Amino acid sequence: MSTGTAGTGEKRAATDEQTEPESALETARRQLDHAAAHLDVDPGVIERLKHPTKVHRVAVPLERDDGSVEVFTGYRAQHDDVRGPYKGGLRFHPDVSEEECVGLSMWMTWKCAVMDLPFGGGKGGVVVNPKELSTDEKERLTRRFAEELRTFVGPKTDIPAPDMGTDAQTMAWFMDAYSMQEGETIPGVVTGKPPVVGGSEGREEAPGRSVAIITREAADYYDYDLDGLTVAVQGYGSVGANAARLLDDWGADVVAVSDTGGAVHDPTGLDTRAIPSFAEQPNAVTDRADEVGGVDLLEDGSDILELDVDALIPAAVGNVITADNANDVGADIVVEGANGPTTFVADEILAERGVHVIPDILANAGGVTVSYFEWLQDINRRTWTLEQVHSELESEMLSAWDAVREEVEAKDITWRDAAYVVALGRIAEAKSVRGLWP
Ligand code: GLU
Repeated sequence: MSTGTAGTGEKRAATDEQTEPESALETARRQLDHAAAHLDVDPGVIERLKHPTKVHRVAVPLERDDGSVEVFTGYRAQHDDVRGPYKGGLRFHPDVSEEECVGLSMWMTWKCAVMDLPFGGGKGGVVVNPKELSTDEKERLTRRFAEELRTFVGPKTDIPAPDMGTDAQTMAWFMDAYSMQEGETIPGVVTGKPPVVGGSEGREEAPGRSVAIITREAADYYDYDLDGLTVAVQGYGSVGANAARLLDDWGADVVAVSDTGGAVHDPTGLDTRAIPSFAEQPNAVTDRADEVGGVDLLEDGSDILELDVDALIPAAVGNVITADNANDVGADIVVEGANGPTTFVADEILAERGVHVIPDILANAGGVTVSYFEWLQDINRRTWTLEQVHSELESEMLSAWDAVREEVEAKDITWRDAAYVVALGRIAEAKSVRGLWP
């Protein structure tokens, strides 16, 4: 099935100097330095980009259903807005921290610039496990968080969106709380809303769709036939399931998918639509793994990273491909569906092994790109059809792919470095034209 040229399969150990970064922020800074070496940019600009413009830290008190009060910590990191308002998700997750938000906000700056969107980068969240909250508690937490952030966000200044642990309903509550206080309905303050309150058709599936488009382009670039391309997908949430189903529709063989509790593996290809995504039915992959007879079952979701496939899509959480397992990755092409699934050292190991890693800031950028379409629809008070969204997304993804591919070819660098070169070039030019003031 593999007809491409990648993946020598050679193994290599990380050296002592190659210690893993300890946070998303450190990874983001190291990636920035690494890519800056391939670009003629004023070092002052690189230095400025290592620091977020602002980080807001807020206390978010919540009245629990039993009447007790608990106080959660929330953040909004605003990294850079030289190209337009800060843009990026809000996550509800126990691992949220200031450092993580800053690192993720830097990735949003590059992501928007790679896609040539008129936005900068932001990211925020609340340190909370949303699975431990009732729906009413989630609503109260979201509304109070929105109120605490109200003076820092807005359709012209900073536009949040869904991320891990948040969804369209969360954005509707956020928009409502903001709008009620401002005295008018302002749908453009957040994206990723339900279409009935100004959300865009196609926004929910957009990150998965872009991952599928980029997997298709990468396969073509490395001379793999999409028909019969073997694909493994780690994480069967919105990104993983949508990417898997589209690739399945386009003729690829999705041979394995996993969730946190297990994985299903069928070398002849799974019926991806028959397996519910996490939103459709939580832990459905695990349940199915228990049910299906005659289908190979991987015992641990993480093993999916080691399958011998043409393309691997890590679409679960960050830091899953590390110095410890990068030598065991069995795919020839890795397309990052999650944000930051590959650590800095793992990236170097994969590059030396000839595994092509297509970075998150390009591959999953369909989410923020359709967020941009949503924002345009909101400020123009005019809706687009699903067909329009799909066709505009396709063309934006192909333009970004071409821009990054040109750098890969011109400079003989990795796809991640090339994506950074494209992004940094645009950001540095904007900073230089605007100047440093006051
Ligand atoms: N949270 C998504 C991301 O990481 C989307 C951000 C947005 O639409 O603003 O790309």
